[in-house]
Amino acid sequence: MIRIEEIVEKVGRNHPQADLDMLRRAYFFSAREHKGQTRASGEPYLVHPLEVANILADMRLDEVSVATGLLHDVVEDTLVEAGTIREYFGEEVAHLVEGLTKIAQISSQSKEVQQAENVRKMLLAMIDDVRVVLVKLADRLHNMRTLHFLKPEKRQRIAQETLDIFAPIAHRLGMGKLRSELEDLAFQHLHPEDYRALAAQLEQRRTEHEQFLHATTARIEEKLREADVPYIRVEGRVKRLYSIWKKLKRQKIELDQVYDLVAARVVLPNEVRYCYAALGVIHNLWRPLPGRFKDWIATPRENLYQSLHTSVIGTEGQPFEVQIRTEEMHRIAEEGVAAHWKYKEGRRGAHEDDEAFQWLRSLVEWTQEVKDSRDFLESLKLDLYPRDVYAFTPMGKIIQLPRGATPVDFAYMIHTEVGNTCTGARINGRIVPLRTPIQNGDVVEIIRSLNSTPSRDWLNFVVTSKARNRVRHWVAEQQRAESIEIGRKLFEKEAARFQLSTKKLLNDSNGDFKKIAGEYGYGRTDDLLAAIGYGKLVPRSVISKFLGPEKFAELDERKESRLRTGVQAVKRLIRLGDDAIVVRGVDDLLVARARCCNPVHGEPIIGYVTRGKGVAVHAERCKNVQQLMVNPERIVAVEWAGRSEHAAYAVKLLAVTENRTGMIAGITSAISDMKTGIRDARASVASDARGRIEVTVEVFDVKHLDKVIRAVRGVPGVLDVERLQGAA
Ligand code: MN
Repeated sequence: MIRIEEIVEKVGRNHPQADLDMLRRAYFFSAREHKGQTRASGEPYLVHPLEVANILADMRLDEVSVATGLLHDVVEDTLVEAGTIREYFGEEVAHLVEGLTKIAQISSQSKEVQQAENVRKMLLAMIDDVRVVLVKLADRLHNMRTLHFLKPEKRQRIAQETLDIFAPIAHRLGMGKLRSELEDLAFQHLHPEDYRALAAQLEQRRTEHEQFLHATTARIEEKLREADVPYIRVEGRVKRLYSIWKKLKRQKIELDQVYDLVAARVVLPNEVRYCYAALGVIHNLWRPLPGRFKDWIATPRENLYQSLHTSVIGTEGQPFEVQIRTEEMHRIAEEGVAAHWKYKEGRRGAHEDDEAFQWLRSLVEWTQEVKDSRDFLESLKLDLYPRDVYAFTPMGKIIQLPRGATPVDFAYMIHTEVGNTCTGARINGRIVPLRTPIQNGDVVEIIRSLNSTPSRDWLNFVVTSKARNRVRHWVAEQQRAESIEIGRKLFEKEAARFQLSTKKLLNDSNGDFKKIAGEYGYGRTDDLLAAIGYGKLVPRSVISKFLGPEKFAELDERKESRLRTGVQAVKRLIRLGDDAIVVRGVDDLLVARARCCNPVHGEPIIGYVTRGKGVAVHAERCKNVQQLMVNPERIVAVEWAGRSEHAAYAVKLLAVTENRTGMIAGITSAISDMKTGIRDARASVASDARGRIEVTVEVFDVKHLDKVIRAVRGVPGVLDVERLQGAA
């Protein structure tokens, strides 16, 4: 068993200012909490956290990461709570331990297979400190190294998970060495026979490979010296078992056909120009295979990997690969993100333009414009999957959503029907408003009611195009259904004036109406009715087509005398009362006073042709009018028809008064003195200790309203009176 002091010493060497005592305390804490527990191997449980900490110390991570390694299973597997860790070891360690607990929850949450990619992205998206992932990878590495102690089924599951989730994460973070070990260990347990067979085949060729690589590297070194290219070392490597196996499977080939089974690797001092110089030497020595040269220096891979790769035909005619990189590129290829800590420490007192920092600087610039290397982790994290969040269904399926997505987006992502009938949502068991943004790792449950329908209001917050399109589609259909209904009513009314039976006319089996629809360019009669409902067509012109010009003119004269009552009849039909507003030049459009400004007879007004709801009449003073002017083609002139004596408009007034008794009585009596009806009056005291009295009065027109307002202003104690917007 590795001793804690060994680990302490390693950390101290890499981080001279580290709080080493914290490591010793973490060790004793972990030892006490895991006391009596054993691993599947029969060893004391403590071996595991110690080994994990040791792996982290070898990665040269800081004392916070290493302490987290010692404590990583304490919250999961013992009775210790996160608060205790915070109290004993501070915010940073507690934060990392919590991150690890979160990861454990995600892996157990996602029961569905085939979701590896999403689990991976989710892990990386929700972890706000990359050290959490590094500790998790070290944990997984030690578990994989000791996997053979577990039962076969458990072994398979863990090995598969390692291959699906953790090895790719290591790859994404550029940690080539760790990834290779995880993959080869997983391969060994998942396909033990293939593994043994392949290992045996390679073993047979070992001497052959060794001789070849020895001769080749010696040759390269010699030529580099001749060409005066400084190099650090030239080494040979045999391709890893798992990646050979993948290649054999994928390309359905034999081992002898794997051209990059062995490769030479040239490691150079930290100057890029040496790489290209070495490449020239190699290409002079052996003929390059066309199309096999890859410049990962000029365009580094997403995971920061940099190297030149070329394949050449060797002296005996067999092709092999040569990899060329600087010492630093090599370290990054092996250690990836973990290489960062080395630089971070080395930076103290080092020269700014030291070669060693070239990579970090370019990386930092590359991920984002970040000045300080402390922002490095943050920028790296943001660069990974910045635009997505991942949430679970209650069944454990992962749904990927854009940032800011809401339960409505989530519902439509599951199924259109789920979206259409969604009425509410629970996030992590709590009922939330439908507009709540979903966070990474949330479990979202959609509450549905089969009679429920989408709401136009959802368009104000959904972010996925799927949800947006579905809701829009639904709203449009809804408007169309309304328009057809309104169009039918308007048409029936007008037809009745011409003594036409609409029952017969609108019957679907009647070809006449369909023909007329066709003349207007509509395929279906419903389209024609919808056009009438939208106000695009007037029923008169449709009837004139139907009757023919002569018959129409004849009947129209008789109709003319009844025009006025006709208009009122339409209004009544649609429950607007008989406070007639006419649209200039057209007598039978559906009109409605807008609720936002509630215009009163005699006020200047304008009409706006809405979609599906006829003409909305706004007062010119209405604050919405300016916005409506964006569509001038929809503005129509409207005017008040003659005032009818019994039409009264309800208007709400607000009187601000001194705070004293009797105000409400004074105001209401002033209003009734004017023979004006009062529908409602209520008083309250505002925070400024002034009285606020709201009165709803019934007025016949705007002049009447002005008189009432003046009368209320005249009541002693009234400071101000204003008309409130909106319907009373
Ligand atoms: Mn563990």
